Amino acid sequence: MIDRLTRLLAERPYLVADGAMGTNLFLRGLQTGDAPELWNVEHPERVADVHRGFVAAGCDIILTNSFGANRHRLKLHKLEGRVRELNRAAAGLAREVADSAGRVVVVGGSIGPTGELLQPLGALGFAEARDAFAEQAAGLAEGGADVLWVETMSAANEVEAAVSGAATTGLPVVATLTFDTNGRTMMGVTPAEAVALAHRLLPRPVAFGSNCGTGPAELVASILGLAKASIAGSDVLVAKGNCGIPQYEDGKITFSGTPELMAEYARLARDAGARVIGACCGSEPRHLAAIVAALKDYSPGPPPDLATVEARLGALTQSTKGEAPVAASQEPRRQRRRRG
Ligand SMILES: [Zn+2]
Repeated sequence: MIDRLTRLLAERPYLVADGAMGTNLFLRGLQTGDAPELWNVEHPERVADVHRGFVAAGCDIILTNSFGANRHRLKLHKLEGRVRELNRAAAGLAREVADSAGRVVVVGGSIGPTGELLQPLGALGFAEARDAFAEQAAGLAEGGADVLWVETMSAANEVEAAVSGAATTGLPVVATLTFDTNGRTMMGVTPAEAVALAHRLLPRPVAFGSNCGTGPAELVASILGLAKASIAGSDVLVAKGNCGIPQYEDGKITFSGTPELMAEYARLARDAGARVIGACCGSEPRHLAAIVAALKDYSPGPPPDLATVEARLGALTQSTKGEAPVAASQEPRRQRRRRG
């Protein structure tokens, strides 16, 4: 049987993925420091409500509330013994919403980084990381995920561990990296290197691409880089950009993106070569509705040049524009990322 994502991709020129989970949980009362994944069992209605908002906006793909639901991240909340349960619940909630949509909606089981550095830079062994991802993926598969969606990755070896762990379920896999450091990931991976990585992964991801990062302009630039190195007509590229640039206001993070900006971003991402387009941190259903409307009946044009991307979406860093070389020995920062 062909999986739902592969089938939809065969039928349609492009698909719309959803927006932020974290942002919308914060709007429903989640507090900083809470484990968002605990809400899958403590406030399932609120999580389902986020999914329903994105389905109503017209999204074809919704991602589960399980970004940090691996044993390493859950340990910070003393929840490491509940990996299977919390992931099963996450997928079950999304499945129920997808199945009552009245059209095909794909459930992607979100898998984020462990928050640890893998050997040799850190202490976490490859096999140990792979086991942790396999454990998470098993829960997501039990709950009814169609595809396992590895996202916000920075390190090539962690992508490999995640894809290999996720594949133990037999489900197809999608993998996206975050190019947030002068056009590269935090660990130095360039878009061209990410394509080479995707091509050697086993199993080969159904789709791969770029998510999160530092705003829609950089995101589209990363898609241009991915498209340049990818195989046209066979590689499926994913764009899931943040809703503008994060700003600190009254101790809170807000995002500058308007629905109009996200509509511009969506068309440029499509021109750049992305076939799966959604949003990330800061995006609400109204932004996704704008993306859905912007792509409907839109005939993609040629890939934009970087000057066009800047003019329509905002400034790019010098390194992304290729005007200044990236420092060769960038110390990788250790950072725990929360899906916003
Ligand atoms: Zn994000």
